[in-house]
Amino acid sequence: MAAKGREKLGTETPLSAEPFVPASTNLADLAAAAAACEGCPLFARATQTVFGEGPSSARIVLLGEQPGDAEDLDGRPFVGPAGSLLDRALAAAGLERAGVYVTNAVKHFSWEPRGKRRIHKKPRQSEIKACRPWLDAEVHALRPSVLVCLGATAVQAVLGSGVTIAAARGRAFDTPRGRVLVARHPSAVLRMRTPEERRRAFDELVEDLTLAARLAKRE
Ligand code: SF4
Repeated sequence: MAAKGREKLGTETPLSAEPFVPASTNLADLAAAAAACEGCPLFARATQTVFGEGPSSARIVLLGEQPGDAEDLDGRPFVGPAGSLLDRALAAAGLERAGVYVTNAVKHFSWEPRGKRRIHKKPRQSEIKACRPWLDAEVHALRPSVLVCLGATAVQAVLGSGVTIAAARGRAFDTPRGRVLVARHPSAVLRMRTPEERRRAFDELVEDLTLAARLAKRE
């Protein structure tokens, strides 16, 4: 009875994007609906929803963690420094950014204030889970040959916890969302301490994207 009463007061709303996801496989419809999503608390402090971007014919989906400060303001995924690095890695792998679909596991910017700055805050497990219906809808609409998880949060959203990037790189996982590869997030490459470490991590990202290109071509 008490639980029912709380539900009536609206204090027990489950965290999920599900009620906001339309039954459509049109990416523009999905993006328009996602703009109004209130499936978890992250929408309240972000500027806007940052939905995925790319052609409906894309055979490769790149999945990051969440929009950063620049993406939150711009409304597009991977436009900041990490986006520039991703573009360079794609080019080195023989892929064009315009030919792939790029999105994030969580569609609103999760941040905390530090002085006047907004500092990236890792999304909670409950927020990653709440946002998953959008990823499922994107994958259902695109039916890609390969989904590349960039970074630990994307890996967690698709393969669950317990899978590390170091151990899973270079392997293809067959999942209900199709074939999945794992790679480092471009931001992690930028955060490497020395130029040598950055160079090595960049080369590994190129290797992983090259593998994705090869698998996509085979289908
Ligand atoms: S992060 Fe995802 S589930 Fe949460 S409000 Fe944004 S779009 Fe909805």
